[in-house]
Amino acid sequence: MLNVMQVTKKYHKVVANDDISFTIPDGEIGILLGPNGAGKSTIIKCIMGFLKYQGKIQMDGLDNKSVEAKKLMGYVPEIPSLYPNLTVDEHMEFIARAYKLKDYKEYKDELLARFDLEDKKKKFGDELSKGMQQKLSICCGLLPRPKLMIFDEPMIGLDPHAIKELKLLLGELRDQGCTVLLSTHMIDSIEELWDTTYIMKDGKVAAVVRKENMGETDKSLEDIFFEITEGEDKSIVKGQEE
Ligand code: ATP
Repeated sequence: MLNVMQVTKKYHKVVANDDISFTIPDGEIGILLGPNGAGKSTIIKCIMGFLKYQGKIQMDGLDNKSVEAKKLMGYVPEIPSLYPNLTVDEHMEFIARAYKLKDYKEYKDELLARFDLEDKKKKFGDELSKGMQQKLSICCGLLPRPKLMIFDEPMIGLDPHAIKELKLLLGELRDQGCTVLLSTHMIDSIEELWDTTYIMKDGKVAAVVRKENMGETDKSLEDIFFEITEGEDKSIVKGQEE
């Protein structure tokens, strides 16, 4: 579904993404795990087509900047970007119209209920708390039922109930065949919810860890993360296909 090929992104002299390649197969959950500044948000913004970069990115064989590809993608940014003068309900309506959705009202209400926003439908964007903004941003991203869902640090600012709902939803999305890419630096937050973890360091994918290979080691993902990012033994790295 998602194919990132030799992507390099520089901000002037800073190489934020250095020749990154990875593939997330249909219906799998891929995690970008890395310390602050590793380049996670940058590669996500490249995938979304917001930045200029060297390299190639495709989804379902379509160039990521094509309208056809954009129709497949849902995105939850690191920092919610809402309209201060639109209500919660109007944000959802706006997304429904932008994507020309039909028969979305039941799903819209279900999402708002799951994220405790049902009684906030008439509140304006600038009247929402930070966590509520994040929840609305997640609802907006999910409403079009994208085939590829991209979350940039989605857990930040969420209360425990919303984190639980989001984790449940990730499992449901996978069951429905949706491909997911999620970035985080909080190892605990992803638990078992992943198929492949791409450990990023200094703008590179430093290791690719397949869940199916975890049985071959008694190390946890956290152990592997620290060994990679803090420069210890790298012999346990699984299946790096770069
Ligand atoms: P975090 O976990 O802190 O969100 P990240 O892994 O998402 O970090 P990026 O935001 O992609 O990391 O940043 C990667 C590098 O690119 C960092 O060195 C950062 O300072 C730099 N960078 C990011 N955005 C810009 C920008 N707009 N202009 C200049 N440099 C930038």
